[in-house]
Amino acid sequence: MSKLAYEKPVISKITAGVPNKFGLPVKQKIISEIDGIPVSELIKDYGSPVFVISEKTVRGTFAEARQAFETRYPKVQFAWSYKTNYLDAVCSIFHSEGSWAEVVSGFEFEKALLLGVNGSNIIFNGPEKSEEDLTLAINHDACIHIDHFDELYLLIETTRKLDKKARVAIRVNLDAGIYPIWDRFGFNYENGEAWNAINRIMLAENLDLIGLHTHIGTYIMASSAYAVAATKLSNLFMATYRKFDHWIKYIDLGGGFASKNTLKGAYMPGAETCPSFDEYAEAISNAIISSEIPHENLPVLFLETGRALIDDAGYLLTTVLANKRSNSGRRTMVIDAGVNLLFTSFWYNLGIYPAKEASDYSEETTIYGPLCMNIDVIREAINFPHVQTGDRLVIERVGAYNMTQWMQFITYRPNVVLIDSEGKTHVIRKKEDIETFKSFESNPKK
Ligand SMILES: *Cc1c(COP(=O)(O)O)cnc(C)c1O
Repeated sequence: MSKLAYEKPVISKITAGVPNKFGLPVKQKIISEIDGIPVSELIKDYGSPVFVISEKTVRGTFAEARQAFETRYPKVQFAWSYKTNYLDAVCSIFHSEGSWAEVVSGFEFEKALLLGVNGSNIIFNGPEKSEEDLTLAINHDACIHIDHFDELYLLIETTRKLDKKARVAIRVNLDAGIYPIWDRFGFNYENGEAWNAINRIMLAENLDLIGLHTHIGTYIMASSAYAVAATKLSNLFMATYRKFDHWIKYIDLGGGFASKNTLKGAYMPGAETCPSFDEYAEAISNAIISSEIPHENLPVLFLETGRALIDDAGYLLTTVLANKRSNSGRRTMVIDAGVNLLFTSFWYNLGIYPAKEASDYSEETTIYGPLCMNIDVIREAINFPHVQTGDRLVIERVGAYNMTQWMQFITYRPNVVLIDSEGKTHVIRKKEDIETFKSFESNPKK
């Protein structure tokens, strides 16, 4: 065996702009303003951290979604998923665009009523509906989406007590060809449970079956899954007509469209891989209009899209508290917003950008939140330019779920600011303070 030829070792400086698997990096993106308002000004006026929501983006995204569906299907109705973001100002924007309310608790139901939504335009989903909740829903003529048989029996009993009719749909779970199959909500399609539930409802004198619902999961990357779901609901729709001579009024395909965020572990950025509203609309409308349903009896198509409609409109502005080196020499950074405010940081590699031009030199960095807790990591590994303590950073696409799933933990929840369509700013949820807590607690020891 011959010896390998000797090669002289070289030392070369690693410079900014080392190609990664996507090729040479382009210039570091910065987010210096939101809808024309400088980040520095927003933080000066409302503190750091602060959530900012762009009304312009909310309305723009909604218009895109509506156009995608309305150009392909004759009767479309959106219902805003409250749990995705139930700040009053946000819900009001969706209602002003014509969205109904989709709620999953008595609390959310009350919120929708307070916002002036007509009870008959409220869709009541979810596995938790007490007799009190059902009474409220029946009295307001809401669309009650039944989740399981125990709820069906409680509902029948409640309508009898009230001597009133209820407008109902069933939630159906089904195999749409994707994994995981969400089979914990609703009645199963494949084993006949959903058909059985329909039969029981048709037999109950106080229940009026007006809809069929499914919500196959969330962040669904395959639009074809919706085609399977729509086909299965169309089958139930026709079976109900054949046996009972009854036309159901709507088919509700729930939410679940992917937002442009990048899932952890994904190879490509979410913005490049998530289907467009057009692709989802194409799959769903094709399945329904090509089903056996006669065109003169086509149901209204309901959509309960949540994250895909609001994620892009939300930003979290934050401040660098410290630059550090870990024991292993790795660059780490502490910012003033933690996982208590960013529930979605557990699922996504959130986009984080400096608010002003930073150093050309970037380095793989771990970004920690400010909590005194080991799991408070916003980004495990991000190629990030060197920034200084006190510099502002912007975390994008945080409009969905963070402002409902946030935790009051160790510190106060911050202001939420809306930039309206005219470019004016409004605090739509004010920062908590010690008075917030005083008003909830009582201390028998003092
Ligand atoms: C959460 C939820 C939605 C919204 O889901 P997204 O994935 O955010 O679009 C819609 N319908 C039901 C029943 C839900 O539970």
